[in-house]
Amino acid sequence: MIPYSRQSIDEDDINAVISALKSDFLTGGKRVEEFEEALAAYLNIKYVCVLNSATSALHLTYQSIGLLKDDEIITSPITFAATSNAALMLGAKPIFCDIKYDGNIDEKKIEDLITKKTKAVVPVDFGGNPVEIKKIREICDKNELFLIQDASHALGSEVHGERVGFFADLAIFSFHAIKPITTAGEGGAIATNSKELYEKIKLLRSHGIVKKEVWNQDMIELGYNYRLSDVACALGLSQLKKLDSFIEQRAKIASFYDEAFKDNPYFFPVKIPPFAKSSYHLYPILLDRNLWCPKEDIYKALHERGVGVQVHYKPTYKFSYYEKLFGKMELKVSEDFYKAELSIPCHQMMSLEDAKFVSETLLEVLGSFGTCKR
Ligand SMILES: *Cc1c(COP(=O)(O)O)cnc(C)c1O
Repeated sequence: MIPYSRQSIDEDDINAVISALKSDFLTGGKRVEEFEEALAAYLNIKYVCVLNSATSALHLTYQSIGLLKDDEIITSPITFAATSNAALMLGAKPIFCDIKYDGNIDEKKIEDLITKKTKAVVPVDFGGNPVEIKKIREICDKNELFLIQDASHALGSEVHGERVGFFADLAIFSFHAIKPITTAGEGGAIATNSKELYEKIKLLRSHGIVKKEVWNQDMIELGYNYRLSDVACALGLSQLKKLDSFIEQRAKIASFYDEAFKDNPYFFPVKIPPFAKSSYHLYPILLDRNLWCPKEDIYKALHERGVGVQVHYKPTYKFSYYEKLFGKMELKVSEDFYKAELSIPCHQMMSLEDAKFVSETLLEVLGSFGTCKR
């Protein structure tokens, strides 16, 4: 089975981890700062704080801007649940904004959702395809809101000549196994140009405890243990060096697909706008309406043939936990997107032969499906 995404770990990565394991500090050592500095330089953002997951990063980001009970954030429902879950952890309320047919938040629909309680807008760069960040930046500036970018898919993506994250107040990245790079399964980071927010986040990452003199410490906030270990950071440092080559390989696969799927009658791929460059964390396609109904069977047939497609995402508001809290809701494009979307295999461990196999199998399988009555 060719999975929709996967990690690649080579000898250099393994050696970096081994040397971290043999060193004096397994956590709290110099590799943490080295990884943070390397990320900051890569992103051209002043401060980076690494954490044990992007979920922790979202939680501390929301806490650092002072998000309180009954405050609101405006975000997309077409994302991993953690984007809005982390707001719920603080008693705040996610307000879901509909998306466009590329899976990204519809910036034209944001302003109508702003209330006195809104504190932040939280767009997600779906599959690595950058959101309309300049327009969202304008809306946030005009309404004095924080722009928090959930860039979990988008480390290495570019928009208007800068790396994704640059135009946000705070940007979140994930180092989960199959995200653009990994720190050994789990990990995340926050990037910001605000020294004040960075320092708050660092304090909360490690129990809210500050060192005083000799053994004396003080605890000045209720914090967590959201630290990332030196062993994980060693892998992160090694992986970051390869990120651009990972993206290059994924872009090759994507452009092969773009060509192979031109004018096909079954679906269209999501287009990357000319002012942007995607990390190609995902290669999403949108099935034609008459293939929405048999999508479950299409998914199964593709898996049987060795093509590990996935669906991203069930709209967050459809989870029973959310329905219990906020009642049922439906956003038109999000609903359509969920019915139409399939993420087909696209990762740096694939060859062009693999891509050829995927594209041929996909077109063949889709050709065998008609409409169905359910
Ligand atoms: C993966 C992901 C997260 C959560 O990342 P973890 O590192 O697994 O906590 C959050 N948001 C988005 C959009 C993601 O894809």
